[in-house]
Amino acid sequence: MGRIPEATVEQVLASTDIVELVGRSVKLRRAGANFVGLCPFHNEKSPSFNVSPSRNSYYCFGCGAGGTAIGYVMAHDGMSFVEAVKRLADAAGIRIEEEVWDENAEKEAKLRAALIRAHQRLAEWYHHLLMKDPVADVARQYLRGRGITAQVAKRWQLGFAPNGGDLMRRWASEQKISEELLIGAGVLARGDRGEVYPRFRQRLMFPICNDNGEVIAFSGRLLDADAKAAKYMNSPETPIFNKSRVFFGFHKAKRAVAKASQAIVCEGQIDLVMAFEAGFENVVAALGTAFTEHHAKLLKRHADEVVLCYDSDGAGFKAAQRAFQILAPTGLVVKVAALPAGDDPDTLIRREGAERFASLIEGAEEFIDYQIAHAAAQPKFNQMTERVRFAEQMAGNIRLLDNPVARSTAIQRVALRMGIPEEDIRKRIGKVGSSQVMKGTVEEAKSEASRLLKEQDRTELMLCQTALANPEVLEWLRQSGKVEWLDDLPGTELLGVLWRSECQPLDAASMTSFLSGLDPVLQQAMVGLQFQPAPPGGLEEAAQALKALELGRIQHQIRRVQTQLKAPGITAEQAGALQREMLTWRKEYLDRRAASLDTP
Ligand SMILES: [Zn+2]
Repeated sequence: MGRIPEATVEQVLASTDIVELVGRSVKLRRAGANFVGLCPFHNEKSPSFNVSPSRNSYYCFGCGAGGTAIGYVMAHDGMSFVEAVKRLADAAGIRIEEEVWDENAEKEAKLRAALIRAHQRLAEWYHHLLMKDPVADVARQYLRGRGITAQVAKRWQLGFAPNGGDLMRRWASEQKISEELLIGAGVLARGDRGEVYPRFRQRLMFPICNDNGEVIAFSGRLLDADAKAAKYMNSPETPIFNKSRVFFGFHKAKRAVAKASQAIVCEGQIDLVMAFEAGFENVVAALGTAFTEHHAKLLKRHADEVVLCYDSDGAGFKAAQRAFQILAPTGLVVKVAALPAGDDPDTLIRREGAERFASLIEGAEEFIDYQIAHAAAQPKFNQMTERVRFAEQMAGNIRLLDNPVARSTAIQRVALRMGIPEEDIRKRIGKVGSSQVMKGTVEEAKSEASRLLKEQDRTELMLCQTALANPEVLEWLRQSGKVEWLDDLPGTELLGVLWRSECQPLDAASMTSFLSGLDPVLQQAMVGLQFQPAPPGGLEEAAQALKALELGRIQHQIRRVQTQLKAPGITAEQAGALQREMLTWRKEYLDRRAASLDTP
């Protein structure tokens, strides 16, 4: 299933009457501006379930369930996001782009079958060239150099794509395969002046298969090490190939992954083939560097643990960090095998043997530990400010850990190594950055949302509610230009999100579009807040609250510096710098307090 464009989602929400929708399953009666009824999500005798037609959302004061019409259908009918949008679109008479495919389903199925046939023949042809044809001398030499035997080449149906288009043209006409089909398959490309040329030239070809072992695409590795083109090039997306959902070699490795309940992740196809042939059959490689959520879900279906085998350079670390961010939220344990500098699984196995690689996999450490070790090796690590910044990053990563036990041991380890109190790290973890999209069930989002609301600063909540109810206040906040310092004050996420947006809370369409762009946790919390009775007061009260928050932020900075001063192993020089910082904050605190007393 494809993605539904955001504009369509907004259109669907705008065309849905939420009172009518909810009213089909819940008996609602009017109460002021809202409608109330017995909550369908928890057992209750007196109604605490509210539906607001003007805001186009619902909220239950009993259990905290809340959201848009789409969220309601998802939670009430157990549907996925896409299913829910489709159901509402149907009811509103809105056509969803995706469904255009359905009308052409038969044509589409025929095209897919033709593409798969063409790929199978192409794989055979490339393979034949590699094994037998003089044009592939250079490729055979390359394979010998990397210790890949003819047997291995045969097992993986490796191939060779020659330079120039004549050979392929001749072959295609013998096979009665049309040029159009090969263009559709992405092995031929059309240039600016309409000329047609092969996409893969002078490359070692790796067939990419689906779960049934049918070839659906190719990955071509450059043979000429000096050439400027990309080392690996993949087929473009086609009706049968979506690279964000496929692992190279997974049809072969799947069983071993499930058996070991572990997947070893390599960076390149050759690494994967060599590791597999050396007896490590539970290997996977994404096509290109990026893991996607689809990859993560696919792995989670078969394994509990992932071992990343990336280069030990800076780029490898970044790749591992990205992989962790995608994999950890699914509950997979993410480990990193520290390969010697300059090695990949292939070179290591060839030089030092399979046992050495096995012991590295065995000794792989959890990503969090690996990250601490990586940070500790940085020259600036003994500076306290660096360490605090690092703790902030770690908190973001720990938050992604799905398992509470894993979370709490990670917190202990980070606290110990950083010399930062566990409590401080826990607080940082409580923050929900808007960049960290939480994906999960409606149930999870609900409990996360109530946790988030509990951890919010009281003054902030009051100010946020005032801003939701009073456009003048929100405008004034936005004009003040102070939003950045909210980042230094934990428990102010909701206000930050609203403040930074361009949303007009009293305009239902604007609010709907704002809410649907938030991650589910923030969405529920924001809806919950909007449904609470708004605090009385306007600009003046808001200005007081903002001042209180500013003072709170300075106090927070003072506490932070105090903690840092107590950290073990701090040098006299660092202590001096921290004390100076402390003086600055104290002075600022006193100045501001004096100012706020002068102008009550
Ligand atoms: Zn409820």
